[in-house]
Amino acid sequence: MKERAGHGRAEHAADRQRPPEVSHGSWGHAVVIGAGFTGLLTARVLAGRFDRVTVLERDELPSGPAHRSGLPQARHPHGLLARGALIVEDLFPGVRAELAAQGAPVFDFGAGFATRLPYGWAPRRSVGIEVQSFDLTDLEAVLRARVRALPGVRVRDGFVVEGLHLSADRRRTVGVTGHHRADPGHKPVRIEADLVVDAAGRRSRLPGWLAAAGLPAPRRLEVPSPLVYSSRMYELTDGQAPDWLVAFEMTLPPSVDRGGAAITVDGTRRLISLVAPAEELPPPRDDEALQRFAATLRSPHFAEVMARGRPVSPVYRCVVGGNHWLRYDRLRGCPDRLLVVGDAFCAFNPVYGQGLTVAALQARLLARLLATADGPSGLAHRFQRRAARIALVPWLTATAADGGWSSEPTGRPARMIRGFLDVVLRRLPDEPELYARFARVQNMVASPAVLLRPLLARPGRRGRRAARTRLSGPSRDR
Ligand SMILES: Cc1cc2nc3c(=O)[nH]c(=O)nc-3n(C[C@H](O)[C@H](O)[C@H](O)COP(=O)(O)OP(=O)(O)OC[C@H]3O[C@@H](n4cnc5c(N)ncnc54)[C@H](O)[C@@H]3O)c2cc1C
Repeated sequence: MKERAGHGRAEHAADRQRPPEVSHGSWGHAVVIGAGFTGLLTARVLAGRFDRVTVLERDELPSGPAHRSGLPQARHPHGLLARGALIVEDLFPGVRAELAAQGAPVFDFGAGFATRLPYGWAPRRSVGIEVQSFDLTDLEAVLRARVRALPGVRVRDGFVVEGLHLSADRRRTVGVTGHHRADPGHKPVRIEADLVVDAAGRRSRLPGWLAAAGLPAPRRLEVPSPLVYSSRMYELTDGQAPDWLVAFEMTLPPSVDRGGAAITVDGTRRLISLVAPAEELPPPRDDEALQRFAATLRSPHFAEVMARGRPVSPVYRCVVGGNHWLRYDRLRGCPDRLLVVGDAFCAFNPVYGQGLTVAALQARLLARLLATADGPSGLAHRFQRRAARIALVPWLTATAADGGWSSEPTGRPARMIRGFLDVVLRRLPDEPELYARFARVQNMVASPAVLLRPLLARPGRRGRRAARTRLSGPSRDR
């Protein structure tokens, strides 16, 4: 098969097409449910078209970076893939520099990551892809401040959305209902809107609201994963910085069922997450057992930081459950002027680090559709169909890999993707050029097709010997 030359570059250029500028507003009022990452990006894009944009958030929002109950995942390491970072920077120029000024390092993905793959270490050399590591609360605080400063945009926190308001024939969304948390009587409040966007995350209640209105709910695809996450922030005060900025140990079910991620948040802090099926991961309060668990990983970096560092947070445990996709893109009878974005639409097993970037791609898609549409009518259907295309490759890769957790036979496409991934993974430790391509695919700046040419070429003698020794399965360092 022929490789599409320059695929990654073409997509980069497309990402740089800015959304319509703020002065073009004329479509009335848009409401966004949820002020998470997706809601904030969506508000930025809508501000180019609507006179007013209101973001409704159930939490009381902090003025700076801080944890809140609606964002439990912020206790855990987050990586924004290069493609997502490009889009964020285009929507909010200067965000990377702002985070860097707070200590969030910018570095080359190949040189800065110490990645333990299932069959050996990833080559530690530059791959020409810049990434940044940060605490999710820092990113959100910066984005929130930017969105709050946009003309015509209002972020109303402490407001819980409880339902949709529909036209008499139920074919169009005309607003939402909800209540202020500060109101002890929870008096219902109705907010009229010309467009409603659900960015309420994994806990979106939209299917129930549709059902309550007598409308069909979307089909829910679900591919479970037993992985849970135990995360803790450490401070390294001995003045010796590790030689990595991110340490990552990849899981590959069923043979490699435990792993971890450690990210540099600033000059001294490292946020570490240990990942395994629930029954294998020790309880959060058992420090010694967590240390012992970290010592069983093939990468020594997690145990090292835990031994050398000073814990500056409790251990937070998170059970995600895996991947789900609510097929709004296939839902007949879904009211118009209602969009579903981010985790509310399609959520991935976090070990693959795709959620933020897929949400950013959806924001970019929305910006493009807004630029050519002449009103909010009909937008929802077009958006949802094309957002499904964005979700498809990340969904197939995540769910094919997670199919390895299931004892049931998986479908042929999933088996083929898993087989392909396994072939690639076996060769990566010894083939830096292949790893550079893999890094581009992983960061969504190139299509998986760029892996085909080097894979079809015969590996060098060293690569063949290494691959033979790995036929027995994933290796352990000790
Ligand atoms: C442990 C873990 C690690 C992860 N690591 C990564 C990673 O490395 N890279 C990556 O790309 N992704 C990662 N993810 C996924 C990523 O966190 C999500 O994809 C992303 O945060 C989704 O953003 P969102 O805005 O769609 O949803 P959310 O962040 O969940 O935001 C939804 C918002 O809506 C609000 N809300 C909900 N209901 C209502 C209501 N009725 N009324 C008003 N407001 C409401 C909530 O309070 C919240 O603020 C990880 C997830 C987890 C759990």
